Amino acid sequence: MKDIFGLTVEELQEALQPFSLPKYRARQIAEWMYQRGATGFADMTNLSKKLREELSGAFVIGRPKCKDRLDSSDGHTTKFLLEFTDGTAVETVLMRQPYGNSICVSTQAGCNMGCAFCASTLHGMARNLTTGEILSQAIVISDMLRAEGQGESVDTVVIMGSGEPLMNYENVLGFVRLLHEDYVLGLSYRSITLSTSGIVPQMYKLAEEGIPISLSVSLHAPEQELRSTLMPINRKYPLVDVVRAARHYAEVTKRRVTYEYILIDRVNDGEEQARELVSLLRGQLASVNLIPINPVAERHLLRPSAARIDWFEHYLTAHHINVTVRREMGTDIQAACGQLRNKHLDG
Ligand code: SAH
Repeated sequence: MKDIFGLTVEELQEALQPFSLPKYRARQIAEWMYQRGATGFADMTNLSKKLREELSGAFVIGRPKCKDRLDSSDGHTTKFLLEFTDGTAVETVLMRQPYGNSICVSTQAGCNMGCAFCASTLHGMARNLTTGEILSQAIVISDMLRAEGQGESVDTVVIMGSGEPLMNYENVLGFVRLLHEDYVLGLSYRSITLSTSGIVPQMYKLAEEGIPISLSVSLHAPEQELRSTLMPINRKYPLVDVVRAARHYAEVTKRRVTYEYILIDRVNDGEEQARELVSLLRGQLASVNLIPINPVAERHLLRPSAARIDWFEHYLTAHHINVTVRREMGTDIQAACGQLRNKHLDG
């Protein structure tokens, strides 16, 4: 049976053709799936009983099961392990921020980028997620917030969970377009952020899509050799090309690019790196987000002292680079990508 979760209204109209329904039915069904928490056709009470039965015989509405859930002690961050019908599981995080509810979605089960500091890549990549599977992470949380009855919703989405989104380009773009639709979450493009390790050709392609989402680039080192040791993809798409592509994205979309820079004690947090980072980014429409590393047990990379973090931040500020230090959220629930999933994989 065909899974219709993740279809656009236009795609639904096409799938519903054999039933010769009026066009507005597709929109009603979409609203049921994406805004009203329907998990099957039986829930769709504005469709006739007969039609509901016919549709149940032809289609399924694929929704993941919540396999595990962890709440941070301050109650602001919740991490979900969601399992799809084939048993593949991914992590999704909800962060209740002062400015609204932000969610972080995964785009692949696992990852094959091989970054030295990251938990998502430890077991390699199982597979790409479909558009519907990526969207279902947002909808599960949106449904949950609505059920709480405080009028809350998903306000911003960051595509920063497990996986390299630009290696699953079409499905991720389908997801972004759906989030924007008024029959889904109606999010503006600027409230969606995509984070990439720097897949250069797709960065250029993204700039041409006419969807001005915010772009974050995982930089983590200001110099070719060091970046290659931390991020093997840097040998294929060198640092200078990544920065050029990010600059191009900023020019085309008029959106400031954010460079993520994990701070790792005595690896990339010294004066030399601070100086190189300043000269790399000088004059760009960009900001730097410093992320004190979430140490991953298997990795032996440590977080710098608070004094070293402050020093690095102030050096950048003093040299006129826009900088923020990521607020700690969810370290007590292993919100660093991939850690909850690994716990289950390791059994
Ligand atoms: N593949 C994409 C998106 C997923 S990773 C990318 O590389 O951007 C999302 C962010 O989390 C990246 O900046 C990544 O470098 C960071 N990250 C991964 N492991 C981390 C860790 N142990 N501590 C802090 N940040 C981490």
